[in-house]
Amino acid sequence: MKTLNQIISKANTEILVNGFKIGGSEKLIISGPCTFGSYEELYDISLKLKKMNIHFLRAGAFKFRTNPNSYQGLRDEGMDIVLKIKKELSINVVVEFLSVDQIRKYGNLVDIIQIGSRNMYNTELLKEVSKLKTPVILKRGLCATYKEWLYAASYIIKGGNNNVILCERGIRSAVTEGTRNVLDIQAVLYIKNNTNLPIIVDLSHSSGLSYMVVPLSKSSIVAGADGLLIESHIEPLNSLSDKEQTIDLLKLEQIVKFENYWKNMI
Ligand code: PEP
Ligand code: MN
Repeated sequence: MKTLNQIISKANTEILVNGFKIGGSEKLIISGPCTFGSYEELYDISLKLKKMNIHFLRAGAFKFRTNPNSYQGLRDEGMDIVLKIKKELSINVVVEFLSVDQIRKYGNLVDIIQIGSRNMYNTELLKEVSKLKTPVILKRGLCATYKEWLYAASYIIKGGNNNVILCERGIRSAVTEGTRNVLDIQAVLYIKNNTNLPIIVDLSHSSGLSYMVVPLSKSSIVAGADGLLIESHIEPLNSLSDKEQTIDLLKLEQIVKFENYWKNMI
């Protein structure tokens, strides 16, 4: 039987998506709203992100919400919008899927599939994305150890999809004052030191606070992250979900400038 390390070592260290090399020298930047409520809302922000040369648009059509009364996303109607905008603007899209059916229907139509934190342990979803070649962002579970996270990655790789991008998104901790989670920056160091997988950092769900996003972006790049995932909106306070952690485009511009500055130095 193959060991965890033997399976993980088969993963691609660099993943080429539409000309962009994830895990290469240029840092990947994924940004966009947590979710959206209309074509116009998503189109307006997508156009601005495209002009800023953001590499990938994130757009939550299916939302995993703790509270059933919270906005659940436009779902299939939302996917039609995402795919229409992808075509109209020639923009790469990252979409989270919550079910095997959604993966079967849309997994080959998006540029990157996201498996969310709460689904890291959902082995049926992991097996389903393992059948595709579409790259998968695998978020770390809310309290997952590095080993559990890598086992989840190994489900995808074992099934034949070697395009796995790990995403540190903050973990539960003793800290209860104000922050949603705590960014485990050590995860970046551990993964870089012990595996060949690319790793990115979700700056938004880590702290849950927009004022922490720009400083944490710097820490993440310095620690060696291959990229950043950032919730942004033209008017953050009008976001349909996660408005406290969503940054405006001026702040996003600061991150892009910083990333360009360090590109060739780290
Ligand atoms: C998200 O990216 O919108 C999300 C729900 O993230 P997480 O799974 O990390 O909570
Ligand atoms: Mn969110």
